[in-house]
Formats: sequence, C-alpha cells, structure tokens
Amino acid sequence: MSKVALVTGGTRGIGEAISRGLKDAGYTVAATYAGNTEKAEAFKAETGIHVYKWDVCDPEACAAGVARVEEELGPVEVLVNNAGITRDGMFHKMDFDQWRAVLSTNLDSMFTMTHPVINGMRGRSAGRIINISSINGQKGQMGQTNYSAAKAGVIGFTKALAQENAFKGITVNCICPGYINTEMVAAMPEKVLESIVANIPVGRLGHPEEIAQTVVYLASDSAAFMTGSVLTINGGQYIAN
Ligand code: NDP
Repeated sequence: MSKVALVTGGTRGIGEAISRGLKDAGYTVAATYAGNTEKAEAFKAETGIHVYKWDVCDPEACAAGVARVEEELGPVEVLVNNAGITRDGMFHKMDFDQWRAVLSTNLDSMFTMTHPVINGMRGRSAGRIINISSINGQKGQMGQTNYSAAKAGVIGFTKALAQENAFKGITVNCICPGYINTEMVAAMPEKVLESIVANIPVGRLGHPEEIAQTVVYLASDSAAFMTGSVLTINGGQYIAN
C-alpha cells in the first residue's frame, strides 16, 4: 500500500508541482483547493490525483476534510502545508481584513490542518510535516507586513512542533522559497517583478519543481534525521544563517 500525502493548495502553482512530484515518487496524493474548481477538475482529469475542496481557514472543514481523506485513502502520513495567499499593501494603508485574511490562510492553517493529523501520526510513531514559508518570512518585505509576519510564524511553528514530536518519529521541516514562477508571482506588477529578478543572483525566477523535489526528499525515509530545519531555496537572493 502506498503512503498517503495530503497537499493543501495542491492543485495549482507550487502545490501542483508538489502533488505531481509526490505522486511520481509513489505516494497516494490528496490535493486540496479553495475555490478554483475548474482548475482542480482539469488537474484531476490529467493526473488521476484525488482533489478535495475546503477552506484551510475553517477548523471544522479541515477536521471533516482530513477525516474524509483518511476514510477514502488511508491515514495521512505526509502533510504538506502549502496553501497561501497574499494581500499586499503598505502597512499604514492596510486594513484589518487584509491582515486577517493573510494571517488566517498562511498561519492559522498550520493549526487547522496539522491538528487533525498529529495524533494519528503520534499514534503510529511516524509522520512527515512539511510547511511552506517564504523568503519574505526570513527577511521581511516592504508591502507585506501581513505576509512576512505569517511566514515568520510558520518558521517558529515548525521549530517548536519539531521538538515536540521528534521522539515520536515525526519530522517537521519548512521550506522558504524565493520568487517562484506561479500565478501568485505573475500577478505582481511587471516593473516590480523586473527589479526582483535583477536581485536574484542566478538571474531567473525559480521553477515550482525545484521546490517540489525538496518536499519529496523531506518526505522520504532518507530525511529521517532532518527535523526543525528551515531550507532556503531562492537562487541566492537572501542567504540566511
Ligand atoms: P498559488 O496562488 O499559485 O496557489 C495557491 C493554492 O492555495 C491554490 O491551490 C489555492 O486554491 C490554495 N488556497 C488559497 N487559499 C486557500 C484556502 N483558504 N483554503 C484552501 N486552499 C487555499 O500560490 P503559489 O503556488 O505561488 O504558492 C504556494 C505557497 O508557496 C504559498 O504558501 C505561498 O505563500 C508560498 N510561496 C510562494 C512563492 C512564490 O514565489 N510563488 C514564494 C514563497 C512562498 P484555489 O486554486 O482554489 O484558489
């Protein structure tokens, strides 16, 4: 029986590449999404990957969603917390809805999605939790106080949860991608994007697959001694210690 991997926001962008990478590595993949049903159904038809719709901000929907995945596919052994959004704006012009939406989707989701799987993993003394943070959670980014705060929170969450569960055979790691070529980045103003690429030493945006293959490694048995780690994948744009 192949292991079950659940990828939030797994039907588009980085999450789509993660879902495909895990499927190719032999996992049974459940990919969740929020509302873009057309894209999710096309992805399902093309790949055969199971797709599920629920909002990662809603704790009850997450608990019910995980229960359904486990009933249909088996226990979740790998959780990839990838779903995320941006609602950019300078802080002095930002309203509380912009703040809350980003904190809720990017940080509250660490609770709402991890809580329903953690006791099962502890009971089986095995599990992999891989959280997608961001370069902007490491260095901060003008116009993204909300996003930078949420993504920095993901790093702290990862380190604390790793300590709590290491002895139970569960690893918890996070990846901080730099700018990756997805719809989230394509939505940025062209001039802003040009100036960002000019500051990436490798001279280009990253590919979603370059994040996905690191997730596949972290999910594997080979990564059993790696926990609480923060992996920087950003083309040299920010070299954190
Ligand atoms: P996309 O916007 O391309 O895709 C986001 C995915 O998350 C979609 O599948 C979307 O579902 C899902 N999603 C959004 N909100 C919710 C929600 N409330 N509940 C459930 N699912 C939701 O994003 P990216 O692929 O670019 O980003 C993926 C992750 O990587 C995010 O956490 C992002 O912050 C992070 N990241 C991205 C970088 C980049 O350069 N792209 C850089 C650093 C980090 P639907 O399709 O239904 O809308």
